[in-house]
Amino acid sequence: MSEAWRLLLLPGDGIGPEVSEATEAVLEVAAAWLERRSGRGVAVRRGWIGGAAIDRWGVPLPEETLEAARASDAVLLAAVGGPRWEHLPGHLRPEAGLLALRRELGVYANLRPATVWPGLEGRSPLRPEVVAGTDCLVVRELTGGLYYGQPRGRGVGSGGEIRAVDTMEYSADEIRRVAHVAFRAARRRRRLVTSVDKANVLENSRLWREVVSNVARDYPDVRLEHQLVDSAAMLLVSQPARFDVLLTENLFGDILSDLAGGVVGSLGLLPSASLGDGGPGLYEPVHGSAPDIAGQDRANPLGMILSLAMLFESSFGAAWLAAELREAVAAVLAEGWRTADIAAPGARLAGTREMGRRVARELERRARAGEAGPDARAGRRSGAESEPVDSAARPHMAAGA
Ligand code: NAD
Repeated sequence: MSEAWRLLLLPGDGIGPEVSEATEAVLEVAAAWLERRSGRGVAVRRGWIGGAAIDRWGVPLPEETLEAARASDAVLLAAVGGPRWEHLPGHLRPEAGLLALRRELGVYANLRPATVWPGLEGRSPLRPEVVAGTDCLVVRELTGGLYYGQPRGRGVGSGGEIRAVDTMEYSADEIRRVAHVAFRAARRRRRLVTSVDKANVLENSRLWREVVSNVARDYPDVRLEHQLVDSAAMLLVSQPARFDVLLTENLFGDILSDLAGGVVGSLGLLPSASLGDGGPGLYEPVHGSAPDIAGQDRANPLGMILSLAMLFESSFGAAWLAAELREAVAAVLAEGWRTADIAAPGARLAGTREMGRRVARELERRARAGEAGPDARAGRRSGAESEPVDSAARPHMAAGA
């Protein structure tokens, strides 16, 4: 039997531990299925980050967590931050732990899918007919550009007034490697890459456009179009369904990925993956620690559960399991179950835990039906409500720190 995949789970702060617990219910079922199918299970370790780490260790990213992250195949993080730690200096705040983890893992490509789930078109602030069918993936460069360029800081100008400087800098290599990520992703999707820049003004963008166009030659089966960031923003709200993969640099990606998220509805539904070369991937829901609803069993765990699906696909090579997991989520939504953030009046309300249990149960049912053969699979949806998930049995998940 192969050595188990190593997964580091970082629950963090606020609603983080709640959505983590709900996701673990799904992870148990998924890991068991993966082990039965591939002979390779999942060993889960838990660690501390953010405010929880500050309270325990005095720093937002303890060395122990960083070592565990480096030694893992994938890191699944819920959320960090909260008012309790806001008085601390910047480098000691919870968010600094997350930024340091991204940097230390060298995850330069941030992938954020934004999908309108059937039945949730009404959650979008846009008209349902505009948003219907939206299913795009923003690939954002995560470790370069304005957020990291030097020099940066404040100084005094010749007239004595205070001035601030940030530097936007990209090397061709930095652009090339993230472009390959986008083109590879497009091959698994609808084979369209929209590269977003500001090439009519910025020298960085002119290099971006040149390098992306060169990379495109390696992918003749993928269509490439270029779009200026201002018109891309306009098109994202007027015709969101026209996009497949949007490839862009750090600052534009920061803004456009939130815009795409806003277009499809609740923050609680959005997953993300951050990938580098060879090292562990970092998977997180897009939302923060939501202190306003923490501890109330009201948080939507689907963003983290869908991040787990991305993890199985990109870090554990199990695209089939990611697809099953997404279908399990779709089935639970199709049954009408909603957490409060996505509920219309009269919906079947589920708390965080129950939503996790329902997805886990649906996945378990799919596993049993799949293993029993196509006939059982066709009839798998009958008797759904009565099958329990055996949360006590975890032979496939090794206990961790
Ligand atoms: P937030 O994402 O935590 O919350 C914004 C709004 O969305 C709130 O009304 C919240 O209740 C709601 N919401 C968020 N996630 C939800 C979920 N899963 N289900 C239902 N509703 C959900 O953003 P914020 O309020 O700006 O920030 C709160 C804290 O989180 C801050 O300390 C911030 O720094 C931190 N933060 C962390 C991350 C991260 O860990 N990646 C990201 C963003 C913000």
